[in-house]
Amino acid sequence: MTNDDQVRMDCIVVGGGPAGLTAALVLARAGRQVLLIERGEYCGAKNVGGLLYGTVLDRLIPEFYRSAPIERPVTRRKLVFLSDDEYAALQFGRDEWARPPHNHTFVVHRSQFDRWYSRQVEGAGANLLEGMLVEDLIYEGTNGHRRVAGVRLRTGEEFFAPIVILADGANCLVSEAARRTLGLKPGRVRQEYAVGVKEILGLPREVLEERFELDPGQGLAVDFFGAPFRGLIGGGFLYTAGESLHLGFAARIQSLVRAGLSPHEVMEAFKAHPVVRRMIRGSELLEYSAHMIPEGGYDAIGDLHGPGVMIVGDAAGLVNMSLYKEGTNLAMESGLQAAQTALEALQAGDATAERLAAYRRRLDQSWLMEDLRRFRHVPEVLETSPDLLDLYPRKVVRLLTSFFQVDGRSKTEVQRDAWRAFRDQLSLWRAARDLFRARKLF
Ligand SMILES: Cc1cc2nc3c(=O)[nH]c(=O)nc-3n(C[C@H](O)[C@H](O)[C@H](O)COP(=O)(O)OP(=O)(O)OC[C@H]3O[C@@H](n4cnc5c(N)ncnc54)[C@H](O)[C@@H]3O)c2cc1C
Repeated sequence: MTNDDQVRMDCIVVGGGPAGLTAALVLARAGRQVLLIERGEYCGAKNVGGLLYGTVLDRLIPEFYRSAPIERPVTRRKLVFLSDDEYAALQFGRDEWARPPHNHTFVVHRSQFDRWYSRQVEGAGANLLEGMLVEDLIYEGTNGHRRVAGVRLRTGEEFFAPIVILADGANCLVSEAARRTLGLKPGRVRQEYAVGVKEILGLPREVLEERFELDPGQGLAVDFFGAPFRGLIGGGFLYTAGESLHLGFAARIQSLVRAGLSPHEVMEAFKAHPVVRRMIRGSELLEYSAHMIPEGGYDAIGDLHGPGVMIVGDAAGLVNMSLYKEGTNLAMESGLQAAQTALEALQAGDATAERLAAYRRRLDQSWLMEDLRRFRHVPEVLETSPDLLDLYPRKVVRLLTSFFQVDGRSKTEVQRDAWRAFRDQLSLWRAARDLFRARKLF
């Protein structure tokens, strides 16, 4: 093939999830020739997620929730602590969340939402190539001076661009290969992964709204902690969609291996808990999916740029795995910042690593890195204080239920026994240390 036959773009984006689509949207709107390549049959076909946080998207497509396929806005949240057969719950919400912009928190089917988003990106002028897998990057130059010059598909087709944005998600084989080839520095600590498992359970709209005491069209997000997760570093969730429930959990892979548990076993134990069983009663399994989530946090983030290349979203490890569990908005923010850096670089005709370092500087100055820096100790706290996710939730549930036990004993006796049961097998020193550490989770 001669140089004239080469397909040349201004920028190529690998991966059509929230990160890649956002990057492509910004570049296309600026009039740049951008090609987004997605291996799924369509954008979203392979994507798994929970809640969509829409702050970044709202800046790009104001009031996107009026036209996007949103299942329900989250108008109420609930934290549920489980022991084997008891529970304690804390539910909260604001009337304001029922009105736009809905606290920017939505339940979506990613397969539908990402597909809708991809149509907006296409409408802005980006070229989408779906159902195509990027096998590798094309490099120019020799050792020490190598730069990314394009991508090669599994079909053998090649596309060239001075800048490639890698948005290939958690299982990022292309990003990993680029890191190795270009000698990009890894993070200070090794990246850790969780496995996220999700079932979509069909339930008629009226039954769902009555069961969760929801006004028509409103939604609930529940986080679960405690017994079913048997000391794993992780927890469960339930989100109400239009006519279905999204039920699942995420647990650090290392902790599953240590406990000798399979994701399937954990999911079954979670569904069998009396509280969860009541919530999903009469539902029908429509879909099952599992996906990795990078959760090493700030210290696991390595170099995010090299000559001709930037890495965004999950592929860059940009996930906030604190109590907030946010990934989609970080993916979009990083896609946006990478695209803006690319626009400046294209304008200057300079896609060197020095020029693209502006991407990392932009991230460092944004809310995204401020959040990740703030929660940088979460992985270590959860690893070294496993009781936080298991023993303590169970103890608190036991204390509350024992306190309100009615069985003819005097209240003095009831309370004394409740405290005794609470203190049993609990080292106060250790609890004080763990609770002190737990402040880093919020
Ligand atoms: C069970 C679960 C629950 C979650 N809950 C939440 C939540 O409540 N809130 C939240 O904000 N986040 C949540 N997340 C995280 C969130 O889904 C991710 O952070 C987000 O999807 C990251 O976006 P991304 O674009 O970086 O990657 P992805 O969405 O994974 O997209 C990557 C895309 O790249 C494509 N791709 C990969 N390799 C190639 C290749 N070689 N060639 C072409 N295409 C390729 C993939 O097919 C995919 O479409 C959850 C994740 C899981 C698994």
